[in-house]
Amino acid sequence: MNIPLVDLKAQYQSIKSEIDAAMQDVISKTAFIGGPYLASFESGFAEFCGVGHCIGVGNGTDALFIALKTLGVGIGDEVITVANSFIATSEAITQTGAKVVFTDIDPVTYNIDVNQLENKITAKTKAIVPVHLYGQPADMEPIRVLAKMHNLYVVGDAAQAHGAMYHGKPISTLADFTCYSFYPGKNLGAYGDGGAMVTDNPEWAAKARMFANHGRAKKYDHDFEGVNSRLDGLQAAILSAKLNHLDEWTEARRRNAYLYNEFLKNAAVITPKEMEDIRAVYHLYVVRVRDGHREKYQEHLKAAGISTGVHYPISLPYLNAYNYLGHTENDFPEALKASREIVSLPMFAELNAGQIEYIASIIGQFEM
Ligand SMILES: *Cc1c(COP(=O)(O)O)cnc(C)c1O
Repeated sequence: MNIPLVDLKAQYQSIKSEIDAAMQDVISKTAFIGGPYLASFESGFAEFCGVGHCIGVGNGTDALFIALKTLGVGIGDEVITVANSFIATSEAITQTGAKVVFTDIDPVTYNIDVNQLENKITAKTKAIVPVHLYGQPADMEPIRVLAKMHNLYVVGDAAQAHGAMYHGKPISTLADFTCYSFYPGKNLGAYGDGGAMVTDNPEWAAKARMFANHGRAKKYDHDFEGVNSRLDGLQAAILSAKLNHLDEWTEARRRNAYLYNEFLKNAAVITPKEMEDIRAVYHLYVVRVRDGHREKYQEHLKAAGISTGVHYPISLPYLNAYNYLGHTENDFPEALKASREIVSLPMFAELNAGQIEYIASIIGQFEM
């Protein structure tokens, strides 16, 4: 049995007629940049996120960058984020001219350790960028309290967390901006690159929209320099078609995660833990194996036709890109440890109980 990490073909097959019709519509109306399909997706996604405004952009990295720029983050500022994420998170911070300040992770949730956050705050700190990694919300309550106390902005990286909830509220309602990626493999994926930021603040929304479109006020009239980062009409129409299915897909991911938990109950791996009163959306299903055994695990699964991944094998502070920060292994011990032990198992809505049982049985066979 061959089981990929994510199966985009199975999803397309299940909604082929809707996607094909949506694409045909956009092409026949040549609504490629801006236009009604983009506007319709933006209002649908804002509503889905529980906030007033959505701005579609070229990708999730740009969404983070533009959100930070809109809030005035730049040279001389510091922005705090988490040691375990994709480089896009820290890249967007650095791109503004600000300095990225990493924080270690909570070893249970793999999200930012909020207990270490206050120590990272200085007079230069301007914003916190929590990442809702693997689809589990970061612990937003203490983050919001600290942000309020120190007058900091909060920009959520929800590239892996479309539809996640924290204490009964959509995560987008708990930050100044929340940024999404529609990279094809994300929980809501386009057929190419795409991204969006959402906010409840109308002034920030207007400014971010201008920034993403060359600082444009009217055609050929520009108030400031921005960038060209737009969500295409084609991608917007595809995303609108898929948004109708997102809740049902998320429920399937959650069901699959609980099936994994059940089937792996007696296996020698640590399964993911959900914090209380949240809705995790399982972009990834990440287990932990003993240090030094990961490669063997992955090979054992591969030999049985099961694809796996590692998100991420090198924590951000230890990437060559951040050598200049001069961090040592003692700075982020939990992120370092996790980066050597985590394995992502196949996770997508169409994955079925039989496949999960098979994966768990293969894992169970692997005795150390
Ligand atoms: C995918 C991802 C991004 C970047 O999104 P792109 O659309 O690929 O630019 C940012 N942060 C995290 C955590 C991601 O997983």
